[in-house]
Amino acid sequence: MTKYYTADYILPITIPPIKNGVIGLDEDGMVLGVHYPGDQQIIDKSVTKLDGLLIPGFVNGHCHLELSHMLGKVPRETGLPEFLTTVMADRSANEQAITKAMKEADRKMFENGIQAVGDHANTAISAEVKAESPIHYHTFVEMLGFDPEVAEQRVDQARDVEYYFEPQRTSITPHAAYSCSRKLLRSLSGKVDADNIFSIHNQESDEENKFFRYKKGAFLDFYAKNNISHEHVTANGKNSLQNCVQFLPSENSLVLVHNTFTAPKDIDYVSRIGRDVYYCLCPKANLFIEGKLPKVQNFVLAKQRLMIGTDSLASNDTLDILEEIKTLCNAFPEFDFETIISWATINGAKALRIDETYGSLDVGKKPGLVLIKNVKALALTPDSFVERIV
Ligand SMILES: [Zn+2]
Repeated sequence: MTKYYTADYILPITIPPIKNGVIGLDEDGMVLGVHYPGDQQIIDKSVTKLDGLLIPGFVNGHCHLELSHMLGKVPRETGLPEFLTTVMADRSANEQAITKAMKEADRKMFENGIQAVGDHANTAISAEVKAESPIHYHTFVEMLGFDPEVAEQRVDQARDVEYYFEPQRTSITPHAAYSCSRKLLRSLSGKVDADNIFSIHNQESDEENKFFRYKKGAFLDFYAKNNISHEHVTANGKNSLQNCVQFLPSENSLVLVHNTFTAPKDIDYVSRIGRDVYYCLCPKANLFIEGKLPKVQNFVLAKQRLMIGTDSLASNDTLDILEEIKTLCNAFPEFDFETIISWATINGAKALRIDETYGSLDVGKKPGLVLIKNVKALALTPDSFVERIV
């Protein structure tokens, strides 16, 4: 039986908001119709009336579910190299504790209106939780290896981890410019299919840029402390992004995550070399680790495609896309909610290539149905919160 809902506004995302619109879904949550008020098709139907904005479920573009047990364990605003050292030293815990934390994080994400997640993994520990979840996961199995000697084995190791996630969606991906040698990046040519999406931590800290430009800054201490050799890198005056992207196979699409210290010339560079790219913003994690936000205007001016992620509970106190949107709305009042909501829904779905099912309230999709309450017309208030309807 079709269930009908109405609210102050329906935001289908792919068409403008509909004031007092009505949406019909079947028992499986498939959208059967989006109607304007007064539509003859719905005139005699029983419609549930809700207060607020009805939107599709969110797409969380970047997360690390397997770090959920690290909530509250890492100090704030230490800068990225120190953050990485702490996570590497303290991430081990017993399997039960990790699984319990992942289940709780997964449950909360669903409750917070999240329908799909791009999730990074170093191990297969999250495979079971993901298989049982109502959330759609695309797992990016990370490769790390700054020593050129380990390049070949890292690809094989990532493939081994990927195997445990079958039949879920997966890709293998380099972790970041500062953690993967050129040799490792180059070795991916011929080893990945064209539909393998890469999701790379990019310019999360200015120290990354300093390292590649001048071989100076806090990454030198980080490598020394963690016994990682950087002899094979020569300073070349270019930012970290330009020291990474060009070595990846050219046909694969990219999600670049964080971009806190990405300059207009970096954005131009990526466009010029013709990469298919989405830029993922994780504002609360950026404030947590570096105390800074990316210059979002630069991406919008350059007409780039943005999406939104939460990052992990090691660098965030919630996995809640609405909280990320509130942070962006406060910091960048020039962008309205209607613009930002498309980053958090359809753009993320397109980047993960799941927009046939997720990211908008279009007929035939099963995108979830989420109500945002305590709003002022089409704008959020500090008290806005999410209620999952479907
Ligand atoms: Zn991350």
